[in-house]
Amino acid sequence: MLELSHLKAGYGKGEILSDLSLSVGEGEIVSLLGRNGAGKTTTLRSIMGLSDVRDGGVHFLGRDIRQLSTFERARLGLCLVPEDRMIFSALTVEENLLVSRSRKSKWTLADAYRYFRRLHERRHSRGGTLSGGEQQMLAIARALLNGPRLLMLDEPSEGLAPTIVEEIVEIMRTIREMGVSILLVEQNLEVCCAVSERLYVIDDGRIVSESGPRKSAELDEVVKKYLAV
Ligand code: ATP
Repeated sequence: MLELSHLKAGYGKGEILSDLSLSVGEGEIVSLLGRNGAGKTTTLRSIMGLSDVRDGGVHFLGRDIRQLSTFERARLGLCLVPEDRMIFSALTVEENLLVSRSRKSKWTLADAYRYFRRLHERRHSRGGTLSGGEQQMLAIARALLNGPRLLMLDEPSEGLAPTIVEEIVEIMRTIREMGVSILLVEQNLEVCCAVSERLYVIDDGRIVSESGPRKSAELDEVVKKYLAV
């Protein structure tokens, strides 16, 4: 459903992605793994039309979307949950959810509360008072109320306790079962292996490895080479 081919992109005069190709199929969770500054966020921003794409193809649902605005891409079903989550801290959990709801979405507030019990418990709390894990769940639930076909998550496990990370992994599986594909940006190999059908490793703006979900000697080598600090 998403196809990036030979993408060159950056900001201003700087080129960050030099020749990046990847794809996400219908119903897949695909991970993009790489160290700080490798170009992961820039890849997601390029898909949403938030960076300067200079060359290459961006196709979604068979359509060339390079000329579309971010708003038009969102309307087609692309949705990005950024690393900083962008929660409205002065609004309650419920208000955060309601302001994002799209009338076209099949996801309702009741669904959000069914899949994210903690959000139901905290529905009257202000966004700014939530823990990191609760904020991440709110960001994901809010994105779902937009009715995405492809959800892009930028390092959802970052800074969260292992039990919360497990909950997020479970939520990603549920989202896939509900027919939404996921492009997951991560630095945590365990999380990628737990949920993904396929896994790409990015370094210096290009894909250096593509593999299946299983840990293998080859993947270990790649991780040692490109992810070890
Ligand atoms: P991280 O985990 O640190 O976010 P990343 O793999 O997501 O890493 P990017 O955020 O895509 O990496 O950044 C890639 C490079 O692009 C970095 O060198 C960064 O400094 C640069 N960069 C990111 N955003 C901008 C911007 N708005 N303007 C200029 N340069 C940027």
